[in-house]
Amino acid sequence: MKREHLIKPLLNHHYPKISFGKGVFLYDDQGKAYLDASSGAVTAGIGHGVQEIIDAMQEQASKVSFVYRSQFTSEPAEELAKRLSDLAPGNDYWSFFVNSGSEATETAMKIAIQHWQEKGRPSKYKVLSRRMSYHGITLGALSMSGHFTRRRRFVPLLEDFPLVAPPYCYRCPMKLDPTACGQSCANDLETVIKRIGSEHIAAFIAEPIIGAAGGAVVPPDGYYERIMEICKRHEILFIADEVMTGIARTGTMFGMEHWGVQPDIIALGKGLSAGYTPMAATLAKDHVLEPILNGSKLVMSGHTYSANPLSAAVALAVLDYIEDQQLVKAAEDKGHYLRAALTKMSEGHEIIGDVRGKGLLAGLEFVADRQTKEPFPASKSLTTKLVERAFSKGLLIYPAAGGVDGEGDAIIIAPPFTISTEEIDLLVERLSEAITEVS
Ligand code: PLP
Repeated sequence: MKREHLIKPLLNHHYPKISFGKGVFLYDDQGKAYLDASSGAVTAGIGHGVQEIIDAMQEQASKVSFVYRSQFTSEPAEELAKRLSDLAPGNDYWSFFVNSGSEATETAMKIAIQHWQEKGRPSKYKVLSRRMSYHGITLGALSMSGHFTRRRRFVPLLEDFPLVAPPYCYRCPMKLDPTACGQSCANDLETVIKRIGSEHIAAFIAEPIIGAAGGAVVPPDGYYERIMEICKRHEILFIADEVMTGIARTGTMFGMEHWGVQPDIIALGKGLSAGYTPMAATLAKDHVLEPILNGSKLVMSGHTYSANPLSAAVALAVLDYIEDQQLVKAAEDKGHYLRAALTKMSEGHEIIGDVRGKGLLAGLEFVADRQTKEPFPASKSLTTKLVERAFSKGLLIYPAAGGVDGEGDAIIIAPPFTISTEEIDLLVERLSEAITEVS
């Protein structure tokens, strides 16, 4: 074996080297073009090589790229925090800047715990989440993730936080008829709260639309209203993990806007800087921060690169670009076009069990039998084969776990909001060919 030094996701796999990106395409050093139908890991929301972002980066880098957050603040960081508060539901958020989605959710957890500590209620420290969930790879974030395969190796190090039933109507985890279930999955939150005792629970965290752990699973209407009502009644903070859904991805700036929900805390990442620099944020409402402001005044989290001016300037330029190009609306409109095309395509493929999603976050779930919804045997690893086949055809799609405990096969299609309808047609054509070849 050739001596190598870079640890790649799969150590023995050959990954092509990308030379450059433009729009919705990436080009490798052999000249092969890849249609980026997943925006990488649902990240490059405005596409690759956008000149306005490169200009903003250069301008900020020529002033200052880094200042240490314990010594200085900066104009871009201050402005970004104000901008996010203006955009977020309810407009009264503080921002804590970090570098990845995992850091954002873990900071959300820490702020929630500290909130209760400074209110004199230190026993409220557990964070509930759902069985189908992924909130990040660090140990705190994994402790509140239901994603079995990503947790498995580290279970002895993880907090044993309880998991709640997900709102997954395609295969109801409560085995109920979704048209007459009375929101049983939302009510499961209350059942778990009563079992554990709300005096031990700081927060409940949920992705507005389940991403990697489900493949763009959209909850039924009324679900989040019920969740918020339960959280309020039991004095539990609600954390919206908008790392994947935030910043225009679902056709609204924040995913929770679809249900008129104002989360107590919001985690952002991925699309915030659209992949141009590492950047993520934890937003906390005034009332969440108040006990800390009146108490220790020190939010106990933070990283060396937190709130660095370069990444903040990039995120501001991304938000400007989204506004100037009207990309929130584009994500909504093109999402309709994409889902209609995927639905039409699914008619010709027996193995597509479900087409779902919102805006430009679309999901497909695959089944061995469409009537019974029986999943493929795990040994077949259909998702892996499909992702590889699509890759060889120059199409990038994002693998997801399907099924309540990750036993199924699903993919996410989440192209940049700048994709044209012709490019969507090409995407669906290549995807259809790849599905045929693995069926
Ligand atoms: N939360 C959600 C909903 C995610 O989808 C992800 C990543 O896929 C994360 C958190 C973790 O983000 P990161 O990989 O940037 O640490």
